[in-house]
Parts: sequence; structure tokens; C-alpha cells
Amino acid sequence: MEAGLVPMTFHKQNILIACSEKKDRLQFFNYFDELDAEKIFTATDIGQMESMLAGEDQFSVLVFELSQQWVKNNNQIIQLQVQYPALKLVGLVSAQVELKHHQYQEISSHLDDLVFSPVMQHELVAKNIAVVGSNQQNNDSHSQDELDNFIHAYFEPSGFPQLLIGVNDHAIKFANKALLKKFEVNKSDLIDQVWHQMIAVNKNTGIEELTAQLTETGQIIQQVRFNLSGSFYPIELRMSYSTIGDQPYYLAELHDLTTQVYQQKFLQNLEQVTTLDFDNRQQKEQMMVLLKWARFDFCFIVKKSLSGDYDQIVWDCSLNNYAQKFITARHDFLFRKVDAEGFYAIRNKASEVIPGDDFLNYYTINAILLFDCYVDDDNDAALIVGSLKEVDNWSSLKLLFKQLSLHYKQSMAFKILQHSHESESQYDVLTNLLNRRYIVKTIEQSIQSNPNFNAVMFLDLDRFKVINDSLGHDVGDEVLVNIANILQHHVSSHGVAARYAGDEFLILLNHEVDSDKTKQIADAILKSVGRPIKLNSGSEINLTISLGVAYYPEHGQNVSKLIKHADIALYDAKLNGKNRYTIYDNNLDGDHTKQNEEMVKNLQNAIDENQIDVYFQPKIDAKTEDIMGFEALVRWEHPDLGIISPGLFIPLAEQSDLIDQIGLLVIEKSCLMLKKWQRTYTLPLNMSVNLSPVQLNDKNLTEKISDIITRTGIYPKHLDFEITESEKFKSVKDALLMFKKIVNLGCTLSIDDFGTGHSTLDYLRKIPAKTLKIDQVFVKNIGLSPDDEAILDATIDMAKRVGHEIVAEGVETEEQRIYLSQKGCDYFQGYLFCRPVPAKDIERILSQRAEILKNK
Ligand code: C2E
Ligand code: CA
Ligand code: CA
Repeated sequence: MEAGLVPMTFHKQNILIACSEKKDRLQFFNYFDELDAEKIFTATDIGQMESMLAGEDQFSVLVFELSQQWVKNNNQIIQLQVQYPALKLVGLVSAQVELKHHQYQEISSHLDDLVFSPVMQHELVAKNIAVVGSNQQNNDSHSQDELDNFIHAYFEPSGFPQLLIGVNDHAIKFANKALLKKFEVNKSDLIDQVWHQMIAVNKNTGIEELTAQLTETGQIIQQVRFNLSGSFYPIELRMSYSTIGDQPYYLAELHDLTTQVYQQKFLQNLEQVTTLDFDNRQQKEQMMVLLKWARFDFCFIVKKSLSGDYDQIVWDCSLNNYAQKFITARHDFLFRKVDAEGFYAIRNKASEVIPGDDFLNYYTINAILLFDCYVDDDNDAALIVGSLKEVDNWSSLKLLFKQLSLHYKQSMAFKILQHSHESESQYDVLTNLLNRRYIVKTIEQSIQSNPNFNAVMFLDLDRFKVINDSLGHDVGDEVLVNIANILQHHVSSHGVAARYAGDEFLILLNHEVDSDKTKQIADAILKSVGRPIKLNSGSEINLTISLGVAYYPEHGQNVSKLIKHADIALYDAKLNGKNRYTIYDNNLDGDHTKQNEEMVKNLQNAIDENQIDVYFQPKIDAKTEDIMGFEALVRWEHPDLGIISPGLFIPLAEQSDLIDQIGLLVIEKSCLMLKKWQRTYTLPLNMSVNLSPVQLNDKNLTEKISDIITRTGIYPKHLDFEITESEKFKSVKDALLMFKKIVNLGCTLSIDDFGTGHSTLDYLRKIPAKTLKIDQVFVKNIGLSPDDEAILDATIDMAKRVGHEIVAEGVETEEQRIYLSQKGCDYFQGYLFCRPVPAKDIERILSQRAEILKNK
């Protein structure tokens, strides 16, 4: 360094810093310390300052605060001057004080230096604070020295991009190396330019106000744009007012925010592509904006048609007619690559890399990305994005569009899932008979197209539940298949047979069959079912069935009436000893209502007599296979009929308001058991309780739950409620509100039987549920239906991405467990691990578990 530029020092000098802001004291301390001061003292109030000045130490510099609490006015400053003539005085204007420009000039004329709080290190260095009493020694050569000193000692070495700007003409005087390098610009492009023509300051402030603010408060910080010959950078501008060698300057620090801004935008866009609704036009416009931001020109999805080519445009948000051009050209090479790897990308000069591709050549495409969007054979698509220009941030954008392609796949799979349960599959997987939905449609069509005679038969196996529970599900399934075959055989050309639900079947006989023939068929079915059924295991099983019959148009003018009346007739057959059929009769209706009333009375009695019990089924952690909690399942222990399943009496309870009582009873019993087990076994268990949609109509539900939580002393976070999407909600809006209230109690929600309802993704997002319980139907079809598997995969993927935990229900086989485990299910529930059992059995299981752990 040249001799003249060596910074002056405070060697052997004592300094006193007196101000209230700790940060300011620190800045001054560092500054004087750097310049070799002997002793540096600080004072935190004016009393302390005065007593220190009057003390033994001789000070050569005093930094003091100008504010109401400290030095208030010129008179006080003059007093200090008189009292300590050798003392250099540095005024620090408190941030609370607003000085007009003339006041500033007036005060500064009495001082060696004047700075504004908060002070910055570079400002102290720039101004050479207290080094030379600038008021006494103003001469040009000295000014030049000071400027040189500042430039060499501070400005150039600084790692931050900086500009030094003249206050009067607003022209850029100096630009440091860090700036030239960072923004890749030549000095000559900057020097003498007016700074606010390159730096677009906040329009609300305006340049006059901004400079006024700079003179008054000493500094500004703003997020602005820095324009450099066409391109611009988002920056944080930190600008301060400094006097260097008697000349006023603005010192501007330009912190590049490109990366932060990009990252922020990237995350926003990532969110956008993973929640995009491909059918929404408005969102397409948002995607166009995204595409522009990414500097891409086209983005579309094409689907494979029967011809085997990707020549159907399914979704297009390009800025031009690219998709159309794309599907008319052949892309053998591209799609071979995509088929092999699921993905293909060329970053530069795509048209030269694949000269044979007409599309790439026609537009001279530079960058292209292709993602496979295969969902099933009928939905084989690809996402294609590309740009004619150079693409920056290549790997981030690759990720972004990959997410878009995954999101498309998942949305498609979800759509198929909804359809498959609405219309597409006509057959029941197990029995190959028509399924419930399809038979209803068929009956509808039949009575429309041929309004003559039709017969509907409702069939239900007698005591099937006993077989299922005692001999196991495999046997149960085998029996159902056998029965289906019998029905199919007897119906043959006379109509169609369907599996309605569980062990319920429905038969439609066509118009050529009269009532006599109907009775014959019914008799034949009873006879065949009554014969022993041979099982694979070699053993035989005896079974009977009951039938109810309703005729069109005599017993009902529409499908639902017909089915309902056939059901009522079936009920009568059961009541009259089973293994028989009943033809519907208007009198039965009254009987049925009476039966219902009877049941409701019985149910009320059951509650009073303590016949309602709760069984528990463990939920298993997929990774550790440990018990993590339970689902509470209600049971009616009837003194004569034995255990009645909730499938039978919950609908009755829902119709009769008894559901509120039963529901609370289940919650209370479950919480009591949970508390007991947590305490006895010191385990972090949780409890899931089913909530009927009808219970949500109770305005005071959350108060009642809250009361149970308090009384039983459980933590609300351990209590989970299983809810279903349902038509039984009085109002969806109110239901959503109730869900929020439950979550506000601290409890969690699970969506039960997921995949069977008509939930839209949007609805799903609105429910604050933590967990999805995948319906048993999907689990049952693992290994049987590849389509269902694909849908299951996509559902799990989607659920995981929105942060849901996943419980798979009805896990019965090791094969299902392994499959679900690999797909990332978090918890299992099913007969493979444990059936729903009474509380005492759970206690036995938990004790055994504790015993095993103790002996380990
Ligand atoms: P859910 O909530 O879907 O309950 C699961 C059902 O699957 C239970 O039938 C359970 O016993 C059965 N299950 C569990 N693992 C397996 C398996 O591996 N294979 C097969 N085939 N089944 C399995 P459950 O106990 O008969 O309950 C039937 C339905 O009744 C429940 O369906 C639920 O919707 C309703 N429910 C049960 N308890 C309550 C309650 O306290 N309140 C309300 N509102 N509804 C309840
Ligand atoms: Ca449930
Ligand atoms: Ca369920």
C-alpha cells in the first residue's frame, strides 16, 4: 500500500462511546479497536457519560447520541466544546430523531463528524470518523487522500458488489471488482450513468422522496431490479449516505437475489404443477405463465390411440400450434427411448441430435423433454415439453416437469378409480356374476324397454356369517362361488343373476317368464342350494337360502321400489323359518315397519341393559409389526340371538336417533380402555372410533367429545375419528365445519373406506384428515386385478404426496401384506394379524407382548 494511504490510527488514545443502541456501540467499538485505540469505554446513559468525562481518563474522542434522552440541542454541544476543547466530537443521530436538512447542517457545523443510527462499519471507515476533524482541515488534496483511502482500503476489497454515486448528479462514479464480476459488466458501461436509470427503485417511493429519506435517515434498504442491457437481476439495494473527503456520496450495495427469487418461484411452481386440475381452463392460463417463466415454448400431453401412435392431444398449454404439428410427425427414436427408460431429454440442439425427426427440425427445437405417463393400456400417454431457446436451470426444470407428468398419471388413475366403481366394471370379481351397480342399471333398462311383466328376486344365504366366521374367509368365498354357479345355472337364458353385496344376490327374470315359471325357478334354486356343497378340501357343507320376489309392475313401478319390496319379501321368508321364498304382498309392508319399530325398541332396550359392547381390532405398524393402536367396532350382544353385527343395527340406529347415544357410548368405552392400556403397558397407543355421518348433525357433538376426553384423561391426539364421504350429510359445508372443530379439539381424522365413494381430490383436500384407510375391496383384489393394483398404487402415491398416512384394511394374506408394505402403506389392519376381539382379549395380547419384551 502507498505510504499516503495507510489509515491513521488512534494509537495511545482513549475513546468514549455514549449511546443507547447496543449495535451502534459495537460498530464504533470495532471501528476504533481496528484502528488501534488504547482504551475504549462505553456509556449507556448521559449521567454515566458525564461522570466518565469528568473522571481520571483523558479522552481524545467522544461519540455521543443526539436524542431526547441524551444531547438535545446545539447549546449542549457548544457546552461540551467549551468544557473539553481537545475532544473530538462525533454526533450519532438516534433513529427516533428526524432531522430536517438545515438542522443537520447546523448541528454538523459544531461537530467533527455526524452519523446516523444504525451505523454501518463501512460508513465509519468511509468517513474516516474522528480521524481528522474534517471541519478544521478541509483542503482538496486531503479530500482526495481520503477518497483514495476509502476506495483502496474498503471499497475495492469488499466482497459485496458496490457502487459509489455522486449525490448531486446521481451519476455512478466508481464500481468495485465484486460488482463487475458478479453481474458480468464492464466498468465503462456503468461509469457516469444515472444510477436510478439502471436500478428500478420502488415506484411508490419515487426518486425525490428516496433521496430525501437517504439524507434524513442515512440509509435505505429496498428489493428492486437491476437492469443491465436487456437482462435484469432481482437485488436487495442497501444504500447509504456518506461524506467522503468532504464530498457527499451514496454508497450502494447490490445483493443479488436471483437465486432466492428463483428458488421461491420454483417452489411455488412445483406446488402449482402438483395440484393442477387438467380440466380447468383458468389453471391452463396459469400454466402458460409458468411456461414463460421456464422459458419453454410448448407443453402438451399426447395419448396413444388404437393405431399405436401417440396421436391424440389430451391436454395442451403451448404458446403456438406445436402439439398439432407434433402428432402429425413420426417420432420412432424418441418414443423408443421413452419406452425403455420412462423419460428422455435433450438439452441442446435437439434438432441436430435427431435430424430425422420432422417436428424437431421444423421448429429448430433446442431443448426437449419427454415423460412417460402410462396408466393402463387404455391410457398410455406422454408429456412433451420443449424450448426453441437455451434453457437455464435445466435440472430444476427437469424435476418440475417430471412432477407434472407424475401428477397427470395420478390424476388419471384417480379418475379411472372413480369410474371403475361407477360404471366400467360390470362383473363381481369373486363370482363373475354382474355386480350391484350393473344389475340395477339392467333392471332399469329392462322395464323401460319392455314394460310388461318382470320378476325381481332377492336372495340371501341363511347363516352364512357362521360359516365365514368359523371356517374362514377362503371357505366363505368358495361357497359364494358355488352358489353363484347354481344361480347362473337356473337363471340361464331366463334372465341375469348378480351379486348384490356380501352373501346377497339379485336375479332379474325377463318378460317371457310368468309368475308360475318364476315360482318354479325359485323352487329349483332352493332345492339345488339345499344339496351338500363339495369343497376343495374334500369336505361337504350344508346350506340353505331364502328368497323374496317382487313383480313389475304390480309390486313397484321403479327399480328401487322393486328391490325394496323384494327385500321385504325376503325378510318375511327369513322370519318364517328360512329356506323358502315369499312373494311380495302389500300387507308385508306394514309387517316390515312393525318389525323395524320392534327392532328400534329392542335397541333402546339393549342400550339400557348394557348389551352394547365394543370390540377392538389392532392396527399394526407396517415397519415394526408392532401394535400402534386400535379401531373400536361396536357389537350388540343379544341375549337370544347372540352377537349382532353393526352392519345390521347401525342403519337402524341412524334412522332412529339412537346413533347419538350409541356413538357416545362407543367413544366413552374406547377412551376408558385406551387410558387403561396406555397406563398399564406404557405404550403410545391410539384409538380410532367410527363416526356416523348422522352424528355430525348434532351441534353439540364436539362439546360432548371434549367432555369425554376430560373425564377419561386421555390426550386428544390419541383419539382418532373415522369418517366416510356420505350422502347422509345434511350439508357438506356443515360437515366440513364439524371436521374442523374436531381437529381443533386436538383429535385426528381418518377417511374410511377410501376409494369407494365419490370423493373428488378437491373434497379430499378440504377435509383436515391425517390418515386414509384404503377400502378392503382394493386389498382383496391384490394379485387378482392388475387394473385395481395400478389404481391402488396411484392412490397410495397421491395420498403420500399430500402428506396422508395410509392404513390398509382387510389384510388377510401374507401376499397382500408384502405388496402393501412395498408400496409404502404405514399401517395394517386385518384378520392376518387379528380379528376384532373383546377388550379382555386385547389385554391378553398386550400382556403377552410385554412378557416377550421382558424376556428379550
Ligand atoms: P368399517 O369401519 O369399514 O370396519 C371394518 C370392518 O371390516 C369391520 O366390520 C371389521 O370387522 C372388518 N374386518 C377387519 N379386518 C378384516 C379382514 O381382514 N377381512 C374382512 N373380511 N373383514 C375385516 P364390522 O365390525 O362388522 O363393522 C362393519 C361396519 O360397521 C364398519 O365398517 C363401520 O362402518 C360400522 N361400525 C362399526 N362400529 C361402529 C361404530 O361404533 N359406530 C359407527 N357409526 N359405525 C360402526
Ligand atoms: Ca372404520
Ligand atoms: Ca373401512
